[in-house]
Amino acid sequence: MRVYIGIDDTDSKRSMCTTYVAAVALRRAESLGAKRADLPWLVRLNPNCPYKTRGNAATCLPLEVEPSVFGAVWNSVVETVRELADLENGADPGVAAFSEESRPLLAGLYLRAVRELVELESVLKVCESHAIRYWAFGESRGLIGAAAAAGAKEETLTTYELLAYRTRAMWGKERLIDPESVRRMDELFGGQTFDNYDYDRDEVRITPHTPCPVLLGIRSTCVEVLSESLSVLRINEPLEFYEVFKTNQATDLHYVVRDLRSIRPLESVVVRGRVASEPRVTPGGHVFLKVSDDSGSVTVAAYEPTGAFRWVVARLTVGDEVAVYGSVKIKPEGLTLNLEKLHVLKLKEVYVERAPPCPLCKKSMKSVGSRKGYRCERCGYIDPKATKVRKRVDRGLVEGFYEVTVTARRHLVRPLSLKESGPNDHRSA
Ligand code: ATP
Repeated sequence: MRVYIGIDDTDSKRSMCTTYVAAVALRRAESLGAKRADLPWLVRLNPNCPYKTRGNAATCLPLEVEPSVFGAVWNSVVETVRELADLENGADPGVAAFSEESRPLLAGLYLRAVRELVELESVLKVCESHAIRYWAFGESRGLIGAAAAAGAKEETLTTYELLAYRTRAMWGKERLIDPESVRRMDELFGGQTFDNYDYDRDEVRITPHTPCPVLLGIRSTCVEVLSESLSVLRINEPLEFYEVFKTNQATDLHYVVRDLRSIRPLESVVVRGRVASEPRVTPGGHVFLKVSDDSGSVTVAAYEPTGAFRWVVARLTVGDEVAVYGSVKIKPEGLTLNLEKLHVLKLKEVYVERAPPCPLCKKSMKSVGSRKGYRCERCGYIDPKATKVRKRVDRGLVEGFYEVTVTARRHLVRPLSLKESGPNDHRSA
């Protein structure tokens, strides 16, 4: 029989990672006779979810299991979660197994969990009526991610991540990877892998900064290059093992296209509108401006960590047509859209009016008086008919897409370097 076992909420800020728990559970399930029906899935859910620990990751193990051993496999997965989850520090794990036939019933839940907040009660009902088995601990919140991951639409799982795990003795210690080798790996495989290195900030991006079992993660659009990419890295500590996951990372799946009247907090939206205020740069280097459409207006923010992207935003002016991509937050002043991407659709033509140049000596002439023409102070040339000249301002910006620096990019956001479209591509917005 084909089963999809979703697992979520095993970690705390102090330790663990749900991908590691899933990878260990997978190995143990295989030792009991289960076969992989696919790579394990790493499913990113709503990046604005207030309950997330870090990147709101959930996992699913697609397995082919003989009905006679399913009970043993299920018990082993739950035991692995019990053993490894950081239960003392607030993890509320959930595990739920679904059949191939019931998966279509979960597709709506999956998309809602990526784009909205989902109520636990509704997920409990889904598990009650459709799960083969489910188990949860504490507040049971992990069942939301577990069921959503098991319901992931396969056409949205278009990227991969190789996750390499550290030996237990190294958990919490500095990660020993040579940054030069990461740049080399990026040079060799940067076409098929992404977000390896932040050249703006001169920072390795394949290693997390948390005390979790993950040593590194290489994200890619092509599964074949992953092990070769890993082999280029100079790693000065032992690996426990590595696992390749299929993911919905870098797909833009979290965005919904909205007008400003209908944006809601905790959503990620794409809004098409016009710049309605001049950008304001704060002393901390954050940039704010207003964008409006026919239904309303919103403050748009490019915070300091978004890097050089802020200076693009700071060059916008009232009347520019844009599509803004980002997450909606409630602030005391009202709703704010934290920018993740920007599509400059049409730059307003901006002109300045200047005194005309002297045709003889090219110096700027001076006005003689209203409608009385201009006079050159250097050579004395007078033109009683001369008027101001209009000059188009170079905006220092071209129409097109812009994105935040790699360090500030959320897992679901599709890097512009990935040319082919994701399942929820909004490039035409
Ligand atoms: P990591 O990325 O390090 O694995 P995390 O950021 O995934 O950690 P979790 O510890 O899994 O964080 O906690 C997220 C919790 O929020 C889980 O219990 C999950 O079920 C729940 N959750 C995820 N998405 C939603 C959503 N859209 N609505 C409601 N709850 C959600």
